[in-house]
Amino acid sequence: MMYVRVVVPIAVNREFTYLVPEGMSLKKGSVVRVPFRKGRIIGVVIGRAEPFEKSRYVLEHLFDLPEDVFKTAEFVIENYLAYPGEVFQFILPPFRKRAKFQIFSGSKESPFILTHEQRRAVDEILKVGKGVFLIHGITGSGKTEVYFHVMEEVLKQGKSVLYLVPEIGMVPQTLERVRRRFGRGEEYHSKLTPGERMKVWFGTLDGDIDIVVGARMAVFLPMQNLGLIVVDEEHDTSYRQSAMRPYYSARDIAVFRGKLLDIPVILGSATPSVESYYKAQRGDYQLLELKERIGEAKLPDVEIVNLRKRQLISEELIKEIEGVKGRVIIFLNRRGYSPFVICRKCGYIEKCPDCDIPLTYHKEKGIFLCHHCNYTKKAYNTCPVCGEKLEFSSIGTERVEEKLREIFGEGIPRMDRDALRKRLMHREIYSGLKNGSIRILVGTQMVTKGLDLPDVGLVVVLRADSILNFPDFRAGERTFQLLSQVAGRAGRQESGRVIIQTYFPEHYVIKAAKEHDFKMFYEKEIEFRKKSKYPPFTYLGRVVVEGEDLRRVQDVASHIAEELKRYSVRLLGPSICPVKKRAGRYRYHILLKGDNRKNIIEALSPLIGKRFQNIKLIVEIDPLDLL
Ligand SMILES: [Zn+2]
Ligand SMILES: [Zn+2]
Ligand SMILES: [Zn+2]
Repeated sequence: MMYVRVVVPIAVNREFTYLVPEGMSLKKGSVVRVPFRKGRIIGVVIGRAEPFEKSRYVLEHLFDLPEDVFKTAEFVIENYLAYPGEVFQFILPPFRKRAKFQIFSGSKESPFILTHEQRRAVDEILKVGKGVFLIHGITGSGKTEVYFHVMEEVLKQGKSVLYLVPEIGMVPQTLERVRRRFGRGEEYHSKLTPGERMKVWFGTLDGDIDIVVGARMAVFLPMQNLGLIVVDEEHDTSYRQSAMRPYYSARDIAVFRGKLLDIPVILGSATPSVESYYKAQRGDYQLLELKERIGEAKLPDVEIVNLRKRQLISEELIKEIEGVKGRVIIFLNRRGYSPFVICRKCGYIEKCPDCDIPLTYHKEKGIFLCHHCNYTKKAYNTCPVCGEKLEFSSIGTERVEEKLREIFGEGIPRMDRDALRKRLMHREIYSGLKNGSIRILVGTQMVTKGLDLPDVGLVVVLRADSILNFPDFRAGERTFQLLSQVAGRAGRQESGRVIIQTYFPEHYVIKAAKEHDFKMFYEKEIEFRKKSKYPPFTYLGRVVVEGEDLRRVQDVASHIAEELKRYSVRLLGPSICPVKKRAGRYRYHILLKGDNRKNIIEALSPLIGKRFQNIKLIVEIDPLDLL
């Protein structure tokens, strides 16, 4: 009699014992159908079990997960303290009736001729043939061509390729390029229908699909004979799943899986993450630099404007915009009309009752809105305390759009989350920019990602400081990445200009962005990380305690901190989170710093699955931010 341990996707933190029928051969990673409660369910075998009297029989052996996929799942369970059930639920496709199977097939384009630099990078990757390569290539240096040439060789050897992009929105254009070039390729991400996901999932398992372009969940696909993983824009924090469990970083998992299979992993970015660049400096990763822009393109000139001496939308700025040939992109990191509503007479500030942060005035919708929890109330313009007129004095994208419309009178679309739901969609804006019917575009981060914009003559960063001042150790890194990305929008074809407005013109992040100097930024940043003991010099864990009763939250946080003292980690807190309240719940956190990951895991694993009454507990390893 053989018994196996099985995890199922609905009881995520438990495992169950089943009997194996005679003649059925199961192993770790076998996907099975088992009786569960009064029904039947699909589960994954995670190992042998001790005999257990009341066990029922496994009903059906469906297929086996490839060994590397199973090991990758184990890695997530151990390294991110994830529940086995939730990890396998995430890795397996939704099980539906298998739809008719049709994969894309088209004609192939011939490859571009590589520059010297690109050639060197391709040759190096192919020669070494395994390990992690960090391609640091400035905007427009042709990283994609390097990926493609390596892919070509790998595919020729009959192996398959995983190509990851940080956001679902970037999949279509990447897939289009891949298909044009290789005549095939499929996409995989959470926005596909269950049927489509199943098609691609089993298509890779069966070896019918050898190229997949996907967002982070694609890193778990059961590709047959995987020969290469590309992680484009490796610095992008969207690779980190942090809004829901299981928490994990698709980039780090790609690196793990690459090592497991002894295949090359290419991380590419114009602004590598500090962590990855540090690893490259230390020799863990191999650094490949692309320093030249393809063709005639030059890096744009960057001008820094001191906001202590000038208004946000000054006359000088208006003149600049008027004088530009080509398109103008205006970037501001705040949605809405006025991110702050205040009464100058009595000091009343319009705040979210649940989150304790200022509400944003959205003029088009006529509401005050909380950007944390979506709390909404109808807008008004007199102070509810003293009756004085309220001031809508701060500036968001909606206000900028209105102001520019008054001045230029042209169709000026806005690209942010509020605007895109209605009105012009992404694609229409791009075609408008292309055919010239749109000249000026206002937007949030959205304008920094996605398609290549044609003929951009000027990029304006209205206020560079909104992220820089976040109480978060990655604020400098984020700002540098963002500024570089926005600046990269200028002068893809010809030489364009960039204006960065800031209250801190002397800050090293701003200076480095002006010079397009990643190295300058990195040297300062790594010094700061070392001095203040942040990653990559230490490993972080974080416990967030949330609850409606402040005293209870404080008590539980203190209790947990007390328990954590027994482990070899340094503790910060418990203290109130920078975001003090969210959706009506008070928030306290404890930060753990450890010399290695094991110490953090050891300290935090007893908390997994632990429950405190009326408390929501979030336990995270490698937290993305500390807000
Ligand atoms: Zn808003
Ligand atoms: Zn008032
Ligand atoms: Zn709120």
